[in-house]
Amino acid sequence: MNKKTVEQSKIFTSSTCTREQTAVKRTIKVGNVIFGRKRPVLIAGPCAVESAEQIDIIAAALSKMPVDMLRGGIFKPRTSPYDFQGLGFEGLAYIHAAAKKYQIPFVTEVMEVAHLEKVAQYCDMIQIGSRNMYNYPLLKAVGKLQKPVLLKRAFSATIKEWTLAAEYIMTNGNDQIVLCERGIRSFDTCTRNTLDITAVPIMQMNTGLPVVVDPSHATGLSHLIEPVSRAAVAVGADGLMIEVHHDPTNALSDGEQSVKLSDFSRMIDNIYRCFP
Ligand code: PEP
Ligand code: MN
Repeated sequence: MNKKTVEQSKIFTSSTCTREQTAVKRTIKVGNVIFGRKRPVLIAGPCAVESAEQIDIIAAALSKMPVDMLRGGIFKPRTSPYDFQGLGFEGLAYIHAAAKKYQIPFVTEVMEVAHLEKVAQYCDMIQIGSRNMYNYPLLKAVGKLQKPVLLKRAFSATIKEWTLAAEYIMTNGNDQIVLCERGIRSFDTCTRNTLDITAVPIMQMNTGLPVVVDPSHATGLSHLIEPVSRAAVAVGADGLMIEVHHDPTNALSDGEQSVKLSDFSRMIDNIYRCFP
């Protein structure tokens, strides 16, 4: 790639953030859910689909709350190979059944090009996770699908790298992209990552795309989800993605950052207080 391409991305304004270059805000539709409107879209669900029963319990409870979309990982990118890796296509069947039963669209992560087509047949939105933001074959392949994509920021990515990752998807034909800020790695180890709240308006201004915030992976701690979500809403985020579990202590992944289902309804009220 030559110098000019790196400095001046072709579609977006890339790493600059000037008043003159503010992009026109876009909306992205996932079923009946619209990202980019006034009220931030709420995506919630477990880190991982663990069983048919687990996802049914969670989806049933969420369907009674003002939750717009269900989340749940079936292919889990775990740091340790000894940790639960997800149920794979068995999990896809479980989350698809729950989403259908409770009539809620769902998003799930894909890590391999080979899995893309099958997952896209069943899900409403494909998630590209933090670790795969740099997986260019995968970005090109989702670009060839007509399916909304949730593109998470790599925990080491600059604004420019994240922007160009979105351009990989766009230049291959898919402009249905929602961005997700999920925290970046910093010197501090008190929280799992450091939420870059500034990235929200910068990416909105540079790309015009909706930007959602994932306070769960940003903080790693369930007691920080509510205040950090309120900060995300205050800065103008187009959505939130929050991990919830009916039994966080026994969750197979990310229990420490998962909000207890029984606490979630009250938490939503507190976060969304300023929206009618
Ligand atoms: C996830 O949302 O399931 C996930 C693994 O998050 P991240 O890719 O941001 O680490
Ligand atoms: Mn998780």
